[in-house]
Amino acid sequence: LTRPDSPASQVPRYVRVNTLKTCVDDVIDFFKRQGYSYLGKAASVEELRALSGKKFLSDLHLPELLVFPPQTDFHDNLLYTSGHIILQDKASCLPAFLLSPAAGSHVIDACAAPGNKTSHLAAILKNKGQIFAFDVDTKRLATMNTMLMRAGVTSFQLAQQDFLTVDPGDPKYNKVTHILLDPSCSGSGMVNRLPREEAAPSAERLQALAGFQRKALSHALCFPALRRLVYSTCSLHREENEDVVQAVLQERGSAFRLVNAFPSWPCRGLAAFPGAECCLRASPADTLTHGFFVAVLEPCGEGAAAPR
Ligand code: SAM
Repeated sequence: LTRPDSPASQVPRYVRVNTLKTCVDDVIDFFKRQGYSYLGKAASVEELRALSGKKFLSDLHLPELLVFPPQTDFHDNLLYTSGHIILQDKASCLPAFLLSPAAGSHVIDACAAPGNKTSHLAAILKNKGQIFAFDVDTKRLATMNTMLMRAGVTSFQLAQQDFLTVDPGDPKYNKVTHILLDPSCSGSGMVNRLPREEAAPSAERLQALAGFQRKALSHALCFPALRRLVYSTCSLHREENEDVVQAVLQERGSAFRLVNAFPSWPCRGLAAFPGAECCLRASPADTLTHGFFVAVLEPCGEGAAAPR
């Protein structure tokens, strides 16, 4: 689906090692045996940009991520079909990495299908604890179930349920300390879309999406034991990103704050409000990834989790 002249043609193939099934060193050895040369850990985004041929690197930001030249196709690779590696864009690995729940935690993945971030969360949790995953889309949930089985994820409960109807007062969720909210969005950051999908979303569509995103974020902040929440989209639109975060923070008074997550990440939130630079953005040009947005929120005062 990738056109040769599109920004997607510049984005490397990112491979997340599924630590529920294997380890980074074993995967590196596997690819070396398949004829790839391992160049070590990248020191800059420029090194990733320069990758070509049968060479690969470890990512400079995320420890379980290997980086191959753009257009490398591993969909038929044994490590992929057996769930030992997950083919996931680097930006889409940020939410679970920044949520970083300790093993044993109770976590909600509010809009979870097809489950790449759920499987990443399970790896971080070492399959210990509980992930409550919700989605409304039957087909995507079926795909997700297969993917989670293949990835060896055991610590999850998957429900076909509108997250807005999940009751924060239900005792089942009274140990939920971490929430990942990756709601439906315009997808305007996805760079491998076909031309007919590239039209900018209308103002009405953006408004409708932002309305849902605000409701979902506001709802997520109602869970009583919450210590950290990550909000993410693959949208470039401020209306779905900084504006949603600002509106919900304002609505909550001083109960929650934005965490200055991943200070070494080069691309920050648009200056839509004071503190918006605490948010992360990603793009093909700056970070060699799809376009993405991430915000990390914590309750003010006690109860905040250790920063990442
Ligand atoms: N987090 C997923 C992953 O990493 O694989 C991708 C999630 S996708 C951006 C957004 C998802 O939200 C879609 O699967 C959609 O069906 C789901 N969704 C939309 N409205 C929802 C709602 N009210 N409650 C729960 N899920 C919803």
